[in-house]
Amino acid sequence: MRAACFNESGKPFDILEVPDPTPGPGEIVLSVKGCGICGSDLHVTELGGAVPHGAVMGHEFAGEIVAVGKGATGPDGPWREGDRVCTMPGISCGTCPRCVSGDVMGCSALRMTGFGEIGGGYAEYAIGGDRMTFRLPDNVSSSDGALVEPLAVGLHAVDKAGLMTGEDVLIVGAGPVGLACAVWAKMLGAREVVVSDYAAHRRDMALSCGATATIDPATEELGPAFEKITGRAPMLAFECVGRPDIVHQISLICDRGARILSAGMCMAPDNFMPLVFGTKELTMQFVSYYTHQNYQLTVDMLAAERINPLPMVTDRISLDALPTAFEALRTPSTECKVVVEP
Ligand SMILES: [Zn+2]
Ligand SMILES: [Zn+2]
Repeated sequence: MRAACFNESGKPFDILEVPDPTPGPGEIVLSVKGCGICGSDLHVTELGGAVPHGAVMGHEFAGEIVAVGKGATGPDGPWREGDRVCTMPGISCGTCPRCVSGDVMGCSALRMTGFGEIGGGYAEYAIGGDRMTFRLPDNVSSSDGALVEPLAVGLHAVDKAGLMTGEDVLIVGAGPVGLACAVWAKMLGAREVVVSDYAAHRRDMALSCGATATIDPATEELGPAFEKITGRAPMLAFECVGRPDIVHQISLICDRGARILSAGMCMAPDNFMPLVFGTKELTMQFVSYYTHQNYQLTVDMLAAERINPLPMVTDRISLDALPTAFEALRTPSTECKVVVEP
């Protein structure tokens, strides 16, 4: 098959011919119809040595099953060739307490997909674990199934934050993670969903993804602007930028007793002031990935058309266009979620 293989930091991917994956017991192979380019892919390729040379990356993918391993069974019987599915980016043991609880990405035996261990979705074919694979509803195309992953990230963040109905929410950063948080905050009963981002096109996307108001921090001070909209300083704020100092900035404008949820996955050391957290009695929560239940609910809500992630898709490209498009995403542009269609 053809795949985009990681070369080394600073060099674009190579499109190479590599062996087709074959499914082991309890695994399926799918023909990839869509794979989202993720900000964390960009970041890890900048950390020297984090991704091995030759790795096939891509962890947000969906497609059609083309091969079924021994005993590979879905929730409604054995998987079959032709089934349209999305799959979680890893294969867990399936039996440990974390797996049984649904925290499959927390399984200590997890083999990750798309970071060198198991080949990912920047390829014609990719592998999935049978119990971590989900049937796509008829109204979700095999390419759009790639959006389940980033949506599940947002659902997990909103879930972990313990959003209560009627709460006002501040979301800092309107990239795919921030937009996914907006989708779910609105869906799960937030009152005002206020999204802050410097880019006008991202603020527009936020309004299409559930935000009730947006703030341009270049022209308005974040704290007063939020208070003007909601009548109070933030009691629940999501950091969805992933750069140092954002958590500190948020802590300064939060109300006493507020919760800050960090979903931005900053890959550099960060500073915040415990004095601010202490005097305001702030709570900090970090998150990554999602649970099995988060994935299933995302698929169900897409099926019911109660959420719509399509406004965040700004481009669909071929595998051949991936190396150039991937490098271009390292500099600010009008792109949000770019989906590769191998
Ligand atoms: Zn991702
Ligand atoms: Zn496990």
